[in-house]
Amino acid sequence: MKTVLIATNNAHKAEEIASALAFEDWEFRTLRELGIRSDPAEDADSFEGNARIKALAAHEASGGMAALADDSGLQVDALGGAPGVYSARYAGEDATDAQNNAKLLAALADVPDEKRTARFVSTLVFVDEDGAETVAHGTVEGRVGHEGRGSEGFGYDPLFFPDVFGGERTLAEVSQAEKNAVSHRGNALRALRALLAH
Ligand code: IMP
Repeated sequence: MKTVLIATNNAHKAEEIASALAFEDWEFRTLRELGIRSDPAEDADSFEGNARIKALAAHEASGGMAALADDSGLQVDALGGAPGVYSARYAGEDATDAQNNAKLLAALADVPDEKRTARFVSTLVFVDEDGAETVAHGTVEGRVGHEGRGSEGFGYDPLFFPDVFGGERTLAEVSQAEKNAVSHRGNALRALRALLAH
């Protein structure tokens, strides 16, 4: 059995990763479960750069465990790709999901439906015990709604209508399994799984 450290302090992400990457001979442990503190500054200007920072920091803090990190965010076309890598702190350093969502709705107040196109992006960096890196990407296309709907998921999920749901349900109105089947993180995890050819 190989133990892989999920390099996130976000419980929702940890749950999504563990449920989507179910290899029978791998087990996942979060930083919290192992009592490892790792919270590096995510100061790169790309999703991949920030995912690498988190994966390497966890790999080192754990004394060389295999570590997997996700960096992700929402790119809104009408806002030139914002909030992008700033998604977690769009409304300020310790912003809540509600504050970020309110800021996004305000920024799009005058933007008509057809111009509210957006995508979630996820980049995963996996660092093996020996330091070898594997990088995978995933996206999901959709539109930003006009008000929050649903209570599942996290972050911008209540505002995001994936195209694959026919524009009728947000990512916060579906189960974790339904989200994993279409989400940016689910797609990145499937790509990673194929790359690791396990
Ligand atoms: P990170 O933890 O630095 O990668 O920040 C990711 C941020 O992007 C989160 O705090 C959310 O605001 C947003 N985000 C990423 N993935 C999702 C998702 O699956 N649903 C909703 N929001 C997400």
